[in-house]
Order: sequence, then structure tokens, then C-alpha cells
Amino acid sequence: MYVCGITPYAAAHLGHAFTFLTYDLLQRRLEDMGSAVHMVRNITDVDEPLYAKADELELHYTDLAENEIALFHKAMCALNMRVDTSQPRASEFIAEMAEAVQRLLDSGVGYRLDKDVYFDTTKVDEYGSFFGYKLDLAIAIDRLRGGNPDLKAKRNKQDFLLWKSVDDSDDPAQWDSPVGRGRPGWHIECSVMSRHLLGDTFDIHGGGTDLVYPHHEAEIAQSKALHGHNPADFWVHTSPILLAGEKMSKSLGNLIFVSDLLREHPMPVVRLALMHYHHRIGGEWAEQLLHEATELWKKLSAASGRRSVAAVETLLRETRAALDDDINTLEVIDALHRFADAPAVVATDSSAQLDKVWRLLGLKAI
Ligand SMILES: [Zn+2]
Repeated sequence: MYVCGITPYAAAHLGHAFTFLTYDLLQRRLEDMGSAVHMVRNITDVDEPLYAKADELELHYTDLAENEIALFHKAMCALNMRVDTSQPRASEFIAEMAEAVQRLLDSGVGYRLDKDVYFDTTKVDEYGSFFGYKLDLAIAIDRLRGGNPDLKAKRNKQDFLLWKSVDDSDDPAQWDSPVGRGRPGWHIECSVMSRHLLGDTFDIHGGGTDLVYPHHEAEIAQSKALHGHNPADFWVHTSPILLAGEKMSKSLGNLIFVSDLLREHPMPVVRLALMHYHHRIGGEWAEQLLHEATELWKKLSAASGRRSVAAVETLLRETRAALDDDINTLEVIDALHRFADAPAVVATDSSAQLDKVWRLLGLKAI
């Protein structure tokens, strides 16, 4: 499973925690079913917004990235996310990325625009069709997300950057390569990292809904051009958590940091609060959910060891069924309430079964 990860600045916020919780639960359920899961969550440390932020803070971008990666890792650990995850950094694969760009140039799919290299989207069948975006909508989204559909010199509006040439010696992120001095475009980074760690094809590719177009459509096009097929069998996308109607994002500055929440609430409460959202739907963040989750966790802690073996088995069965139903965490919350509200019995030894539930949901560090 490959999940598009963070650009390392202001990254350890609730919106990201929600996204990565979805894949954490998916991984836990797959392992519960007996599958070995190799999870890859990359770090986009070669990315234009990172340099802009570093400039603003008067830091070298690598120092900013190191600090933020450490904070992010700490937040993920504190939220009991699985840490046996490959976390490749884009900067570690520059040579492989340049080689992929060279191959695209050689095959005529890539083309030069001055010293930059672009991907000619008419060279793959039905570019943009995988996720079903109509051309005018796709172009509008691209414009909104920092793309350059209006750059006149491009062959087609949807063509995207593969390699950015850098001439300025003050620019901190540049590498020598057979395609010139510069740095890779964002989309080719993920195609190269996923292939390097997981092979030409793998099972699941994840990320936020804001990555569907153009990022994931571009990844598919690149893989088709380089290797002949879509890299992933399943694409899973998570919707954002909103704050006052806006997506939580660095650029808007409306972030709730995981570390702040964990100062006031234990890890299971934060996880349970986030599980009140369906990953396909997301929704408006509500402080109230932390109170509801606190009550639920209290009830569950009191119920532990004081429910019948049958009640524990029902909870385990219902939790698995809810996760199997498109990672329906709202159904999981309902099952947890039913379990907590079931009649108390004299202490039973069903702790091994109950531990399976906690492990499946990551509610205890076991
Ligand atoms: Zn990606």
C-alpha cells in the first residue's frame, strides 16, 4: 500500500491525522485477516511550497524539513499509528526520477519547454479519464491547485511538469542529472518511489481527495507510459476535515495540531473522535466529538472485563464487519456503544478477544 505523504512543514495537524488514521485502520484490518502489509508513506521533501515556507522562516529548507519530519513522526507515534512504515524521501531518489524523465523524453512522451521537461498528455490513452473528470473541470482544478494550464507554450493544457530546470545558483534545491540541472516535478516523485519500493504494480494507493486530480491521474499516466499499466489495483481517497467550512491547510493557517490535542486528551480519545467521520465524507471538525469520545472511552474502560464472552465476540465480529464495509468507522463507534451499554456480568476472562478489538482499532499500544 502506497499513501501519498506529507510535505514537511506544519504537517502534524488533525487533517493529516484523519487521513493517515484511515490507512492505519485499513492496514490493521488487512493484517488481522492474515495479510502481510508493506506500507509506504512518502515524504515530499522536494516540493515548491517547502522552499517558499523555508524562505519565509529564513531557514534552509532541509533544516525545516528535518524539524517537521521529527514532529510528524512524534505525532504519528503518539497517535499509535503503525510505525513499521517505509518513509522514503523524494530527495533520496533524484537519480531514479531523472532516469524516468529521460526515458519519457526518449519515448517521445516527454518534451522540452526551454530547459524544463513536460509530459505530453495526448501520448497516453484518454488522459484524465480514470477518475472521470471532464476536461474543463480538470483544467479549472489544475489552475486552483497551482498548476499552469494557461502556459501558452505547452502542447496541451493538461500537460504537467516532469523536470524543472534550475539556473539560479542561490536556489537551494538542485541536482545535476542527465536531463539537466534542476529538480523533479511532484508527480514523477511518487511514481518513482512507489515503483522502487513496491514494484510495477501494487494493491492499494491512497491519499486525500485533493490528490485525485491532477496528482493521481498524472501518476497513472506516467506508469502507463513507463511500464504499460496503472500502478495500483485499488485507489482509496479520504475527504478532508473542515474548520469553519475550510479545508485544514497550511496555506490557510487554520490548523489544529495533534500535539495540542494530545496535551489535553489521551490517544484513544483523539482516535475515537476522528472515527466519528467517514473517510469518504470527512466533515466539519467539532470540539464536541472529543467530549463524546471521552465519555465513550470511559464507558469502554469501565466495561472491560465486565461483559460476557458473547458480548466481546459480538463486538469483535461487528468491528471487523464495519471495517470491511468501506472502513465504516461510524458503524464501529455504534458497535462500541452497544458493547459498553450491554449488561455487566461478573468478571470474565475475555481479555485476549478484547485485545484483538483494541489492536484492530489502535486504541491501546499493543
Ligand atoms: Zn503522491
